[in-house]
Amino acid sequence: MDIQAPSSPGRSCGTCTLCCRLPDIDALSKPANAWCQHCRAEGGCTIYQDRPQVCRDFLCLWMVDDALGQEWEPARSHMMIYRQGPQVTVLVDPAHAAVWRREPYYSRLETWAKEAEADHGYVIVFAGDDVFKI
Ligand code: SF4
Ligand code: SF4
Repeated sequence: MDIQAPSSPGRSCGTCTLCCRLPDIDALSKPANAWCQHCRAEGGCTIYQDRPQVCRDFLCLWMVDDALGQEWEPARSHMMIYRQGPQVTVLVDPAHAAVWRREPYYSRLETWAKEAEADHGYVIVFAGDDVFKI
């Protein structure tokens, strides 16, 4: 994961905990698609004051990009998305593994892929054990 811009005004993580489940986090020896040992479904991070820097720094694309409408809110879309240079990474909740193929999501992912292509970038989708490049 990468450091992002400051969060957009009015946006907050709310009850979303996808960050604490979908990515692998080396600093916590946490594999992908597994709950962080410090996360509680009600109450969130139990080590919030002492959480690793990677947790402090990360904000998903929805948190920093006003152009994404409410349908992209991770708790609703079941996708956690972030940019690293020209690459867009999409982590899909395995319980909703096909959601990225549906509209309005897929058309936007294709648009991002076309835009990224100019910089030799691409969109990569992780959905459970499957990986797709757009
Ligand atoms: S995926 Fe986005 S909204 Fe959800 S917890 Fe992470 S930063 Fe917050
Ligand atoms: S340390 Fe806290 S913020 Fe970081 S992944 Fe675990 S529960 Fe989430």
